[in-house]
Amino acid sequence: MNRCIVCKCPYEEGQVACPVCGFPLLFDRESDPATLQKLVDDTKNSYLADVSVMMLTYRCDTENGLFEEKSKEYTKLFDALQLSYGETLWFDKDYESVECDEPINVDIRVCHADVSVDYTLSVIPERMVNLGKIGIRLEDGFKARIVVGSDTANACSEEFSLIS
Ligand SMILES: [Zn+2]
Repeated sequence: MNRCIVCKCPYEEGQVACPVCGFPLLFDRESDPATLQKLVDDTKNSYLADVSVMMLTYRCDTENGLFEEKSKEYTKLFDALQLSYGETLWFDKDYESVECDEPINVDIRVCHADVSVDYTLSVIPERMVNLGKIGIRLEDGFKARIVVGSDTANACSEEFSLIS
């Protein structure tokens, strides 16, 4: 299966443009590598510049031994242009260390300029993972998954789109 060199979306032989990012698929592959790379970067930037991923976080109070929700707010996790294919980027903040093998929901907001789209994603661990670290993994076609755990023991959400 051929894949678009910008967004990794698979495409059929004979298609003229990528169905996701519109990159021309019939360009001359022998063309100047620097020119081609600039075209790839410009196309990627035109979709992902100004796109950021936020997560709904809760501030809790454990006074009296009770878990009481005090407030919730969206925290910015990543800019889409920080992401690269095949790597999990971990958010540089530790949350409370809790071992869990139950499904959890993560509320995500994808912002692009002044437009935002909210997703409630399910993360279903196959084994015990620690919820203290959250990351993101870029997938084909400008999609991504939220990852919780660590490089060695983690669980992923379903895919969500970084572009609207
Ligand atoms: Zn593409």
